[in-house]
Amino acid sequence: MHTVVKFTKNNDGDKVERPKWHLSITYSGVAMSLCSGECYGFGVSSCEFQEKDVEIGGINCNDCLGRIKELQSIKLYAKKFKEAKK
Ligand SMILES: [Zn+2]
Repeated sequence: MHTVVKFTKNNDGDKVERPKWHLSITYSGVAMSLCSGECYGFGVSSCEFQEKDVEIGGINCNDCLGRIKELQSIKLYAKKFKEAKK
């Protein structure tokens, strides 16, 4: 389960044209979009947003998707090591 967020108005109060769904992450207790680090929430910024929890996918921001693919490409352990542990 992960959370996705869509900004309908930015922090300056401007309407966001064709808003995209971003992956929402929490850093130091503040929710933000993965790609731009745009913070949101009550008392955090005046962005207007929609947020939802999804089981699979739900992200259509290419910048977020690119970041996720970068993270997924990180090898945390060698395959040999995993096999040896069995
Ligand atoms: Zn994004």
